[in-house]
Amino acid sequence: MSAKHPLPCPCQSGQPYDACCGAAHAGRRIPPTAEALMRSRYSAFALGLRDWLLATWHPSTRPASLTPDEQPAPKWIGLQVLRHEATGADSAIVEFVARCRVGGRASRLHETSRFVREDGHWFYVDGDLHEA
Ligand SMILES: [Zn+2]
Repeated sequence: MSAKHPLPCPCQSGQPYDACCGAAHAGRRIPPTAEALMRSRYSAFALGLRDWLLATWHPSTRPASLTPDEQPAPKWIGLQVLRHEATGADSAIVEFVARCRVGGRASRLHETSRFVREDGHWFYVDGDLHEA
């Protein structure tokens, strides 16, 4: 993650990781929108940053701990945000498709996630999976 070799952000924003989700992960920037938070969570999945996943999970639905990754662990290879919609002053939904490989097998996760904002921070609440 040196300046000489800026890592592209896993969320596929086209920005370097340090200027994108990395700023959130490092505590330098609060994700300003539900979509930005969702992207930072995707990147945290891709990079294995469990602390960030728990920190951005709303306390009402947050698991006590994250279960260990299934083996072989999925390798997250792509994110496409399909929809970002405010559903209230402090609530929003984000629909996305995340692609991964498990072993040699390609898989995709299509989810509409719900987010709420409290004290200026967005939190993931829960989501509905769309069957492929
Ligand atoms: Zn990013």
